[in-house]
Amino acid sequence: MSLKSRSLSAPFNALIDQIRMRANLGRSEATGFYAVNCPICKKADRKTGGFKFEDEAIIYNCFKGSCDASTVYELGKPISRKFRRLMESIGVDIPIELKMIKTSLQKQMESLDDNLYKKHSYQDIQLDEHFDLLVETSHPNRFFYEEYFKSRHIPYDDIIIFTTGQFRGLAAIPMMFYDKLIGVQVVTLEGKYIKLFYNNTDVLYIPESRIQDPVIVVEGALDAKCFPNTVATLGSHITPKQAYFLRGKHVIMLPDKKGNKFIEQFYKYGWSISLPEWSNDCKDLNDAVCRYGAISVAEMIRDSEVKDRLRGSIMYRDWIRGYKHE
Ligand SMILES: [Zn+2]
Repeated sequence: MSLKSRSLSAPFNALIDQIRMRANLGRSEATGFYAVNCPICKKADRKTGGFKFEDEAIIYNCFKGSCDASTVYELGKPISRKFRRLMESIGVDIPIELKMIKTSLQKQMESLDDNLYKKHSYQDIQLDEHFDLLVETSHPNRFFYEEYFKSRHIPYDDIIIFTTGQFRGLAAIPMMFYDKLIGVQVVTLEGKYIKLFYNNTDVLYIPESRIQDPVIVVEGALDAKCFPNTVATLGSHITPKQAYFLRGKHVIMLPDKKGNKFIEQFYKYGWSISLPEWSNDCKDLNDAVCRYGAISVAEMIRDSEVKDRLRGSIMYRDWIRGYKHE
């Protein structure tokens, strides 16, 4: 008897005792079978069914030809549907220790799931620096930043501008998770980005503070901000902690032409990837929105959605090749 089977011997014996009691078993026949009226086909005039108990197995047979009740439960193996049905039909509660045993497929699915999704949450952060809303500030950089966001078709009503601290005079995109502030991305006057997440990790930027189907996943914050139902990983790939917030959604990954890991990730999640046929001058979603407008871009994204891994990777090679790197 294996170590695992030994630890299960008490619940296994308890299961046998319950069956003896519930099925009202008398003496066994010479074959070792205890005859019963089969609870599945319910042939009442004859005891066509029988239980047999072995060291590490419970056998049930019904000799009525048309009955499919026959089943074997082996200690240490997952409970089969048939055995569960049989136990229910005679009113036996299978001990939880035996019910917990998982099939290798179930185990595989769970470990896969673990690699893809990790439970996550964010803390509400407090900014020490003072700031104004860009659209209300009297700071002289207001005009510069308003032009910056306007020219990129990015809504800026929530953008702040720091009035104290090391980022004084610089604009920042606040990142909200429902009602929590979970980070900011500073936009310098040179157009560089500085991410400040404080104690938060794996920040997923959700500009609209809610996730609706189909949700588009991009890398950059400005790309997400300029287009509806779009969230940003703020890095070259999605992390299991970010993916946690997208469970059960219709997700379309939209890579940058600068290249990121989305092409290696979309199929693992059962998501799609979109490789829209926009000009090679468009390196990302924001470029495309500026060039074609959001409505045309929405059509392009929808028309270029691919779910198949192989087709996706073949298309991707051509798609990424055309981009002229600066
Ligand atoms: Zn039967």
